[in-house]
Amino acid sequence: MSGIENLLREDLRGVTPYGAPQFDVPVRLNTNENSYPVPPEVVEEITRAVAAVAADLNRYPDREFTDLRAALAAYLTDTSRDHDVTVTPEQVWAGNGSNEVLQHLVLAFGGPDRTALGFTPAYSMHPIISGSAGTTWVDGLRGQGGEPFDLTLESAVAQVREHQPHLVFLCSPNNPTGTALGLDVVEAVYAAAERAIVVVDEAYAEFARRGTPSALTLLEGRPRLVVTRTMSKAFAFAGGRLGYLAADPALVDALRLVRLPYHLSAPTQSIALAALRHAASLLGTVEVIKEQRDRIVGQLTVLGLEPVPSDANFVLFGGLSDSAQTWRDLLDRGVLVRDVGIPHYLRVTAGTPAETDAFLAAMAEIAPKAIAPKAIAPATDRSGL
Ligand code: PMP
Repeated sequence: MSGIENLLREDLRGVTPYGAPQFDVPVRLNTNENSYPVPPEVVEEITRAVAAVAADLNRYPDREFTDLRAALAAYLTDTSRDHDVTVTPEQVWAGNGSNEVLQHLVLAFGGPDRTALGFTPAYSMHPIISGSAGTTWVDGLRGQGGEPFDLTLESAVAQVREHQPHLVFLCSPNNPTGTALGLDVVEAVYAAAERAIVVVDEAYAEFARRGTPSALTLLEGRPRLVVTRTMSKAFAFAGGRLGYLAADPALVDALRLVRLPYHLSAPTQSIALAALRHAASLLGTVEVIKEQRDRIVGQLTVLGLEPVPSDANFVLFGGLSDSAQTWRDLLDRGVLVRDVGIPHYLRVTAGTPAETDAFLAAMAEIAPKAIAPKAIAPATDRSGL
């Protein structure tokens, strides 16, 4: 023992760092990445974009990432056209992944003597980021009425009133359960959480089923509302590390107090801009991924498992007698999925059709011993496995 443990902040002692396994297996469906590689024409443009800034790396990058904010604002305005949303560059903030953007929010609006409320199970970094900035985390509950993972308006509002948080995290579509939240819940939480910054984490928004409006439509007139997004999922740009948010310009301005100087490197800004110029091409895989997601839900149901309806690029499925054992059995067959710590459930990312085939074939093989006895249902149709 070096004694470092004794010097560490007390609240960090004995804590395990966050991190999904990065195993080199044939089918990696554990971190909700987009399985499709960046298309060759975008690779070329990204290469040119890096070359264009290389000679100027002796200088700090544009601290205000002006061009990138304009491009992100245009992207949000464009893709929300059906719902008549206009996002201006002043409303946009970005970071190295949406995790950093979430951290900026917690650093600015959380901290010691402040509380953050989320509704578990949701994205596990919300409590970790809150805690790392000394914010007290309140583990709110889902499933207080109706389906096991649903968050009803009444329950959300009651929990907000009870805890009077400074920050509220909503996640829609929710990771790990997959379902999107009705905007009525967001509106009601915002109204009830009178002193809170309300964050709607929309990392998976582009995968939502048709007719699922974004909380971007609620921004106007709500100066404490924030919508966070990322290029890591639908955009197939997880390695590029670019997350962003939209909110009232005054809120965005406050984030300048906590960011590190020049936090977005020149190559990051440049390659993100290149990717945004090719948004249509990068997002071209979204429909086929949604098809795989729906196929997973359908086929797992046929196998007698209990998938949760999903608006994201992953499916949480239950009905397993021993989820840790099923996780290992899948890994033995070259398929890596995520054990999110919910007993009897696992989460699988919707990848390419071939990856989906491999996952479903492995599940079909394992199902007879994996399914909890009460959940066994007749498997009548295995077409497409
Ligand atoms: N929010 C949610 C709900 C996520 O699932 C993730 C990634 N798993 C993130 C935010 C963070 O992603 P990134 O930092 O890559 O933008």
